[in-house]
Amino acid sequence: MELVRTIRLKLLVSPEQKQALDTTLTANRNALNFTSKVAFQNGGLSTFKKLQQLVYRQLREDFGLKSQMACNVCSAVASTYASAKSNKRMKLSSFSHSKLVYSYNRDYTVETDKHSVSIGTLDKRIKVPFLVGENYLPYLLSPDWLFGSAELVPTHKGYSLHVTVKRAIDEPNLTECDAMIGVDRGMNFLAVATNQDNKTMFFKGRSIKEKKAKLVRQRKYLQRKGTRSAKRKLKKLAGRENRFMTDINHQVANEVIKFAKASGSRPCIVLEDLTNINMRTTVRLRDRYWRFSWAFGQLESIIRYKAVAEGIPVLSVSPKYTSQKCPKCGHTEKENRDKKKHWFECRKCHYKLNDDLVGARNIRDRGREVRHEIEITSA
Ligand SMILES: [Zn+2]
Repeated sequence: MELVRTIRLKLLVSPEQKQALDTTLTANRNALNFTSKVAFQNGGLSTFKKLQQLVYRQLREDFGLKSQMACNVCSAVASTYASAKSNKRMKLSSFSHSKLVYSYNRDYTVETDKHSVSIGTLDKRIKVPFLVGENYLPYLLSPDWLFGSAELVPTHKGYSLHVTVKRAIDEPNLTECDAMIGVDRGMNFLAVATNQDNKTMFFKGRSIKEKKAKLVRQRKYLQRKGTRSAKRKLKKLAGRENRFMTDINHQVANEVIKFAKASGSRPCIVLEDLTNINMRTTVRLRDRYWRFSWAFGQLESIIRYKAVAEGIPVLSVSPKYTSQKCPKCGHTEKENRDKKKHWFECRKCHYKLNDDLVGARNIRDRGREVRHEIEITSA
């Protein structure tokens, strides 16, 4: 398994260096659009080799690209048409804001101790000093992390280089898990987690819901107003809304990881498979908005990201009936759950429980079933 992180380096470019990078980016963008036209005229050419045969010389001679850059242009265009083909949406693709992709060693290197990068331009390689957040320095200094590709991104004053670093880690083994943690998204709660001992953790949602609702009201008001200043404020507000959600999701994910580590020495986290979340509409209208407006998909990916770094396996299980099944006797019926009262009572065995917790328990038990199946098949 591989861990990947992206490190943002702020490049401190001189005016001449900025000029050189501007020229390089423009040439790259023009080359992309030229290559795209050629590919389109040839029926949406999506194989790198064929495209390269058609345009490589021109990219080098007319656009002045270095060899590696010309290859990157061909592969970017080829993959664009490959996905257009598979989506059955074939049209001429244009590249308006080009980002430039660099390959490590071939067209960029990092000298961490000198805080500088060497990157290719049309003329020659240039050495540029950089600034980086202190949190990210260990990734650059540690020999465990290897450099991958990097992206040159224009900022409003200059340039940033987004460098990816990778590290190989051992695949966690599910059968060795000594703790199963089920995590569900709640109605009253943002998330609920429960472990093998039925120890439970609730992440209160009310104040978050209220703040989110306030932001949404502000957004609707500004949308109705529609003036230029309202539009400017809307942009700011959208940023605030996103940052707010991301921040909360990080906090919840950290708590889930902490809870998992406290539950056992080799914990495993079980989540609902959220890819079909929109299919699940058996939610009261008032709650439905909350479910769809919160970035639950992001929460899932942040949990995964942090879990992988800790060597904790994450399982996805089917979300079907997780809120209707009795965790005690297995009886599954819609009426088991009273959505209005946020209460679960089994119609068969009369087991009672907070309804948000039922989901988390059922999800955890599905994780156990998966582990059991693996144990049987590998025995
Ligand atoms: Zn029951």
